[in-house]
Amino acid sequence: MNVSELKTRLLNLVDVFEEKEDLLTDLDRAIGDGDHGVNMVRGFKALPDNIDDRSMQSLLKSTGMTLMSNIGGASGPLYGFSFVKMSQVVNDEIDKDNLKVMLNSFSEAIAQRGKVELNEKTMYDVIERANTAAQQDEALTFEVLQSYADLTKDIEATKGRASYFKEDSKGHVDPGAQSSVYILNALIGDEF
Ligand code: ADP
Ligand code: MG
Repeated sequence: MNVSELKTRLLNLVDVFEEKEDLLTDLDRAIGDGDHGVNMVRGFKALPDNIDDRSMQSLLKSTGMTLMSNIGGASGPLYGFSFVKMSQVVNDEIDKDNLKVMLNSFSEAIAQRGKVELNEKTMYDVIERANTAAQQDEALTFEVLQSYADLTKDIEATKGRASYFKEDSKGHVDPGAQSSVYILNALIGDEF
């Protein structure tokens, strides 16, 4: 994957988030404050004016900075920091091996920044499972990514705003887990 291919994929995400805005809003209304859909749309809408495509590194870094300052909430700094971290390991051309390194860095960034572990009902549940699958060369289709998000449904949240709902957070997919399905799907494409 070259710079212009990745740029297209990142810019196309605004269409995905506009289509899924209501779904993410509903999920966040159930176990949060209902702003996740609008947050993600705002972040990716700001991308065309701020993305720097002079190199693969600048592409990911500028995406991270833009997401950090435009998504807001808990998820903005987490996604933003992750893209900045991935910019530090990306090659000029992304192949399967480089994508593995990027996914590992994505997962480490969330763990570090969110102080989160598996099964706390967050985006990390999807990102870390995708990372593990990639390292083992397993298929990572949209359906597989979605199945990771669906696993968050039956567990109790112990991080973020959803943790205030305690037992009542059970029965709903985590909004950040759902949004990370779309982000990972764009990054991975048909590489795995
Ligand atoms: P806020 O909770 O501030 O309203 P958002 O609604 O945009 O922010 O994002 C909520 C999502 O952020 C959650 O669904 C969860 O996936 C993710 N999240 C929150 N706190 C953490 C954390 N400490 N580590 C990882 N992800 C987190
Ligand atoms: Mg929210």
